Amino acid sequence: MNKPAEIRQVETVPMWVNGAKQPAKSGRFGDVMNPATGAVARKVPMCDRADIDAAVAAARNAFVGWRVTPPIRRARILTRFRELLEAHRQDLTRLVTEEHGKTLADAAGSVQRGIEVVEFASGVPHLMKGEHAEDVGRGIDCHNMLQPLGVCAGITPFNFPVMVPLWMFPVAIACGNTFVLKPSEKVPSASVRMAELFKDAGLPEGVFNVVHGDKEAVDAILAHPDVRAVSFVGSTPIAKYVFETCARHGRRVQALGGAKNHAVVLPDADPDFAADALIGAAYGSAGERCMAISAVVAVGEAGDALVERIRQKAGKLPVGPGDRHGVEMGPLITKAHRDRVAGYVDKGVAEGAKLVLDGRGLKVAGHEQGFFLGASLFDHVRPEMTIYRDEIFGPVLVVLRAGSLDEAIRLVNANPYGNGTAVFTRSGAAARRFQNEIEVGMVGINVPIPVPMAFFSFGGWKNSLFGDLHVHGMEGVKFYTRTKVVTTRWPASDADAPGFHMPTLG
Ligand code: NAD
Repeated sequence: MNKPAEIRQVETVPMWVNGAKQPAKSGRFGDVMNPATGAVARKVPMCDRADIDAAVAAARNAFVGWRVTPPIRRARILTRFRELLEAHRQDLTRLVTEEHGKTLADAAGSVQRGIEVVEFASGVPHLMKGEHAEDVGRGIDCHNMLQPLGVCAGITPFNFPVMVPLWMFPVAIACGNTFVLKPSEKVPSASVRMAELFKDAGLPEGVFNVVHGDKEAVDAILAHPDVRAVSFVGSTPIAKYVFETCARHGRRVQALGGAKNHAVVLPDADPDFAADALIGAAYGSAGERCMAISAVVAVGEAGDALVERIRQKAGKLPVGPGDRHGVEMGPLITKAHRDRVAGYVDKGVAEGAKLVLDGRGLKVAGHEQGFFLGASLFDHVRPEMTIYRDEIFGPVLVVLRAGSLDEAIRLVNANPYGNGTAVFTRSGAAARRFQNEIEVGMVGINVPIPVPMAFFSFGGWKNSLFGDLHVHGMEGVKFYTRTKVVTTRWPASDADAPGFHMPTLG
């Protein structure tokens, strides 16, 4: 007799509203997968308008007290939050690996980069200082101050479950705002864990809230009249949609989108150094990084030696579950995404690119249901091919050939994306020209993934960012505050009374 199929109970990820776990009212749920096993790890609620209203109302009420909490006191809570994140970094790292799939070492690095934003935001009393000028006119002084906006919202992608949310909410909250975060529905758990830790650090109820869901939740956030600013990170079509919708509602917005990041390798570069750097940059996190190098432009005779070295090294990359010792590349996020990426490899072959390493068909013993794909490498790719034009977001690296640095710069600048780029060379003059002329927001010189530290700002150009200000660093502080300028006179006598003409203060 057949045994009935085992019914495994999985927990449901709660919302976090008003300083406590809350069930969503919507009644609609999605599956959170473990990409290494292909099994459902948890359920996640798909919040509706009423759920979003509850979170925004909590944030609006909390703003009244948080706005007048002195920045030094806010900073102390952030410092305690940083200490708790450090104390719990292993649980957070494990959650990232479980729901995203990346290796534990890679997940730990991303958690560290997120913690550094909290460290930066702890300096908020200094960061929010305005400017003062004495005697802008006779007996008249002028100063400006940075004030918080109110309720801010963050909408984040699947590929950095801890780091990308931490790009946003610590800076916003340090500046005196309250926050509603909607993490990716594929990796929702780490955000709720961070909310618990922030509460333990002393954050008042309602200052930080977490909701879940898909387009329905996002649309409710974008249209909510009490949401003053929206930070978004995700793919370019959704970034553009979020930007346009916020603009229509008169909402402040920064929307970071997708990427096609090029590494330009000049003939004078050390081929072993460049190949090692490019392996990590292209295939680390299975290529699911917005700063992954997905296109190499090999200049002149650099190409053959480089492609051969990448082929040899990438072909030996240990692929498997991210929590297994020695594994360098984990699975992709979903089965659908794995199949989509494999489809791009088919397309590259069909369009005539030379496939020098084929990751299709890879099987990981004991994890046959996991969403794995091996590393693929194409050579002699041309700019009109789909594998060059589209963001693949998987372990597929394409190599194009260029005759000169000029041609390479023209190629990179013609690409609609402009997130990150790198040049490999021993020539200071070539590197200087590259950094000056390249139309990309973040540039590495012999550094393949130039992700800026928290005290600089992170952001791309062109279709990689819709909006004006980048995240964290001083641009983050600017984004989450508005400036007020105060002009002051203390008249000593009636003679100083203002007249009816346009004042010329000097
Ligand atoms: P995505 O655009 O599918 O999702 C991002 C967020 O938008 C999620 O919270 C999701 O729930 C929401 N969303 C999805 N579809 C929506 C819709 N139709 N309407 C409203 N909201 C919607 O992105 P993803 O697949 O989670 O992440 C991968 C993408 O993010 C890649 O394109 C990558 O380059 C990009 N990314 C960019 C950066 C950057 O800094 N520029 C950083 C990380 C990831």
